[in-house]
Amino acid sequence: MRKKIAAANWKMNLTLQQGEALLDGLLAQSYQLQPHQEVVVAVPFPYLTMAVQKLQQVPQFYVAAQNCYTKASGAYTGEVSVDILQSVGVQHIVIGHSERREYFQESNQFLAEKVDAILAKGATPIFCCGEPLPVREANEQNAFVAKQLQESLYHLSAEAIQKVVIAYEPIWAIGTGKTATSAQAQEIHAFLRSELAGKYGAAIADNISILYGGSVKANNAIELFSQPDVDGGLVGGASLIVEEFAAIIKALP
Ligand code: PEP
Repeated sequence: MRKKIAAANWKMNLTLQQGEALLDGLLAQSYQLQPHQEVVVAVPFPYLTMAVQKLQQVPQFYVAAQNCYTKASGAYTGEVSVDILQSVGVQHIVIGHSERREYFQESNQFLAEKVDAILAKGATPIFCCGEPLPVREANEQNAFVAKQLQESLYHLSAEAIQKVVIAYEPIWAIGTGKTATSAQAQEIHAFLRSELAGKYGAAIADNISILYGGSVKANNAIELFSQPDVDGGLVGGASLIVEEFAAIIKALP
């Protein structure tokens, strides 16, 4: 059974002290996670060690970085490699968030290199894709996300693609309070899975977790996560509030 994942993306928010308090608050709640369920918390780089220390003994809770560079080491001032992340106990890395694509000009081709760098070290990429509003309004979202998969992921082997977690995040729903309806989410998740099945076969596509992101909250998580092709969520704003994110974790199917 593929994994169902509640992933928090803190983005560039919270001080260290606020981050510690948020994790303490989350850990004070009780969860009955089943073996196929996971929680991932993507924190700013300087908080990774703190978060790893707090979560490393907690079964099925993992710390993620929000980005990485493609090279292993060297003269790349300000960048952080997969090796550096692994040396502090991090095995999950979010890449291709629409904010990085937009503000830092990350292309599908560059993200293909990041995927390779992460998989080469045995870590897990959480690969974000999703269309902007004009593309959705023109009803061209399927072709848009299919191209993102093709250009960043389709060079991978059948074995490697199953190690990637995909997060579909319609850009018009990120941080806007606008959520895709559960029917819209299911429709495009099913499309993504059928695309993956076309390339790799249905059995492999069935093993790949596809998370939904875009204004997931405590009050819509159950409805979204109950869709057959929605395997949990990548959560921004609501992941900064203990009660909200705890409820989202508990909404995992
Ligand atoms: C995100 O950060 O990836 C995200 C989906 O944000 P929000 O939940 O705030 O829309």
